[in-house]
Amino acid sequence: MENIKHLLRKGAGETSFDTIVIGSGMAGLSAAAMLTKQGQKVLVLEANYLPGGCSSSYYRQGYWFESGATTLVGLDDHMPVQYLLQQIGISLPAIPLQLPMQVHLSGQTVNRYQDLEQWIGEAERVFGASGQRAFWSKAYKVSQLVWNSSSKQLSFPPSSFDDLLQMARNVSISQVKSLPYAFGTIEDWLTEHGLINNKAFVQFVDAQLMITAQNTHQEVNQLFGSAALCYTNYGNYYLKGGMIELPKLLVEFLLANGSDYRSRQKVMQVKNDNGYKVITETHTFSSKHVISSVPLNNTLEFWQDDSTKSKQQKYLMDSAKLNSAFQMGIAFKRTRQFESLHHQIHLNVPLPLIGASSIFLSLSHTDDHQRAPKGTVVASVSTHVPNPELNQNFDKALIEDAILSNLISLGFLKADEILYSYSSNPKAWQDWLHRKYGFVGGYPQYKSIKPWQMKDARLDGTGAYICGDSTYPGQGIPGAALSGIIAAHKLMQDHY
Ligand SMILES: Cc1cc2nc3c(=O)[nH]c(=O)nc-3n(C[C@H](O)[C@H](O)[C@H](O)COP(=O)(O)OP(=O)(O)OC[C@H]3O[C@@H](n4cnc5c(N)ncnc54)[C@H](O)[C@@H]3O)c2cc1C
Repeated sequence: MENIKHLLRKGAGETSFDTIVIGSGMAGLSAAAMLTKQGQKVLVLEANYLPGGCSSSYYRQGYWFESGATTLVGLDDHMPVQYLLQQIGISLPAIPLQLPMQVHLSGQTVNRYQDLEQWIGEAERVFGASGQRAFWSKAYKVSQLVWNSSSKQLSFPPSSFDDLLQMARNVSISQVKSLPYAFGTIEDWLTEHGLINNKAFVQFVDAQLMITAQNTHQEVNQLFGSAALCYTNYGNYYLKGGMIELPKLLVEFLLANGSDYRSRQKVMQVKNDNGYKVITETHTFSSKHVISSVPLNNTLEFWQDDSTKSKQQKYLMDSAKLNSAFQMGIAFKRTRQFESLHHQIHLNVPLPLIGASSIFLSLSHTDDHQRAPKGTVVASVSTHVPNPELNQNFDKALIEDAILSNLISLGFLKADEILYSYSSNPKAWQDWLHRKYGFVGGYPQYKSIKPWQMKDARLDGTGAYICGDSTYPGQGIPGAALSGIIAAHKLMQDHY
C-alpha cells in the first residue's frame, strides 16, 4: 500500500481551475495529461479512493487484483497510449508478452501468435486452410490503417466547421480508401471468404469480438472489427505491479506539472454559470471548462442544463444494449508454468444464471512479486452479463463453482491450491465505479451506428466536453485514451 499513499488525496485545497476533469479512468487522465502538457491548470475529481477506474488494481488479503482490464495494447508506434506518453514525455516500464493469448476450444488450444504468418498457420491448422489467409491478411491490413490514422485524425468525428477543415488537411489516400470498411460488417467478410458456414471459426470470431468490440460478427463493422480481431497481432504488454501503474504514472505527471487530482470526490451536479460550478458531496469547484469522462448515461444525470440533456439523449444506449461483467479474483499456489498469461476459455456448458459461453482468465507474471508473493499467482476471471439493469444481483456461488470446476478440469489449478477467492456482480460496478446499471466494457459496436455517428467530444457547445468508453472511438484502454486525447484537442482548438 506504501506505493500508492500519495494517490489518496482528499480535501478542498484550491477551488478554481482552467479545466475540471470528472473521473480518473484512462479517458479522463489522458485528457488531463494532454491539457496539463499544454499549460492548463487542471483538476481531476475521482469518486473512488484510487485512480484508474476499469483499468486499475486494488489490494485485498495480501494480493493486488486487477479492477477490470488485464490486457494492454496501444504502446506500439502510432497507437493512442504510446502517442499520449510521447506527447507528455514519460515512459512506461512494460513487459512485452511473447504469446499474447491462448484460446481453449473444446478439446484443443489455439495459440494467438503475434506474428501474422505464424498466426495464419495456426488458424489454418485449427479451422482448416480455406479462406483463412485472405481473411486475416485483409483484417490485418485494415487494422494497420485504423491504428495509423487513430492519432492523426483528432478532429474526428467532426461536429464543427473547424473539425472538417482539420480533417481535410490531415486526410491521406489510405484513409479515404478505408471508408467503405465502415459500411461492411465482419459478417460480410466471413461470407466473402467462404467462412460463414465454418461454425467453429464463427464461434471463435464471436468470442474474440465480444472481449474487444462487445458485440458479434453481425453487428461489428470492419474498421473496428479488424482492430478488435487483430488485437493480438500487435504488442501486448504486462505491467509489473498491475494495471494501476499506468494511471499512477499519469496522476504523478499531473501533480508534478501544476495540476491537481483529488480522490473520494464524487461529482453530484455540474452547473453552467458564467464558467462551470462542479459540485461534489463535500465541495464546490469552479472552472472555465469541464471534461466529463464518466459514461454519457451518468453525465446526463448530473448535468443541470436541460437543453444539453435533451440534445444528447439520442446518443444514449439503454441497458438492453449494454453489458456488465461477472468477475472473480483468485489467488493460488504457483505449481506450474503457463505458456501465456491470457486465456479465453470456451465452455462446454454455459455458466448458470448468466448464460455466458466463454470466460477470460488472466494470470499475474511469474516475476511480479508486487502483485503476488513468490510461489503464488493472482488471477482475474471475467465474463459478460447482458442487460445489467435486469441482472444486478444473483447467486454468485453457483457461478463461482462452475468457473472453478472449468479451471480445475483444464489444469490451471487444483482445488487445494486456492489461497483466496472472491467475486463481484454488476451491482458491484455500480457501487464501486458508479457506472449506470453497472455497465462496463464501453458502448458495444452496432452496425446501425457508423463511426461518425458516435458521440463526439463536444458536450454543450460552449466549454464542456465528454470522453470515455461511451463516446468515440469506444472500448478498451486504447479507445478510452484516444477519446481523452481528442477531447483535450477539441477543447484547445475551440478556445485557445
Ligand atoms: C472486466 C473488464 C475487463 C476488461 N478488459 C480489458 C482489457 O483486457 N483490455 C482493455 O484495453 N480494456 C479492457 N476493459 C475495458 C477498459 O477497462 C475500459 O473500456 C476503460 O478502462 C474505460 O475507461 P474510462 O476512462 O472510459 O472509464 P472508467 O475506467 O470507468 O473511468 C471513469 C472513472 O470515473 C469515476 N467516476 C464515476 N462517476 C463519477 C462521479 N460522479 N464523480 C467523480 N468520479 C466519477 C469512476 O470511479 C472511474 O474511476 C475491460 C473492462 C472490464 C470491466
